[in-house]
Amino acid sequence: MRQKIVAGNWKMNNDLKESLKLFSEVANMVTDEANNDAVVIVSAPFTNIYALDQWRSGSNIHDKIKLAGQNCCWEESGAYTGEVSAKMLKSIGAEYVILGHSERRQYFAESNAQLAKKVDLALKHELTPIFCVGETLQEREEGIHFDVIKAQLKEGLYHLIKSVFKTVVIAYEPVWAIGTGLTATPEQAQEVHAYIRQLIAEGYDDETAQSVSILYGGSCNPSNAATLFSQTDIDGGLIGGASLKSRDFTDIIKTFN
Ligand code: PEP
Repeated sequence: MRQKIVAGNWKMNNDLKESLKLFSEVANMVTDEANNDAVVIVSAPFTNIYALDQWRSGSNIHDKIKLAGQNCCWEESGAYTGEVSAKMLKSIGAEYVILGHSERRQYFAESNAQLAKKVDLALKHELTPIFCVGETLQEREEGIHFDVIKAQLKEGLYHLIKSVFKTVVIAYEPVWAIGTGLTATPEQAQEVHAYIRQLIAEGYDDETAQSVSILYGGSCNPSNAATLFSQTDIDGGLIGGASLKSRDFTDIIKTFN
């Protein structure tokens, strides 16, 4: 049985006070209303994760809501001004880390080779990578989206041995659907999710392919989540904009009730 997961990506939103407010609202709503076993993850800005972890351990939700970083450095430590390491993230309470988000690939020129190193460091420090793949609009229009996704997966993750690969979470996020209000249709999303699962089966085996959670991301909201999440190969969502509103984020999580 694959893990159902709903992860919120706050991006560069919410200062400390705002983060604590939103996190506690989500925690309370999820505790009261979400009657399912989906794993709920909040990926907050680096500066706020420690405080959220402290709040969490002092409340009755303990580790019900998992914390994630939005990136980590490709090196262990050293002269990388402005970077945050996987070890640092782990030490402040993060359990997951988003890697290869399209905004990181686009604005910070993250390559698949660099991401492979980040994946290794995250795993070394017991952070579960949420590894993002997805094509741009141009790549989809040119009909090369499957090739793009294949390269991202192979170059970023296929160096992992099977037992480790199985622990990674994959997020399919068509770049043209992120923050645009354009959502992939359930059929379009399912097609790519099935393709990713098939690639995993080819690179590893069927059992591995069936055990990895693959999330959809791209303008997911309370109105479209149920249809998207009901697709055979979609195990939940990576949610941007809608994770900034406690009501919307909780309603998306409640899709699994
Ligand atoms: C994201 O940034 O991962 C994302 C899916 O954003 P949005 O839901 O806003 O499209």
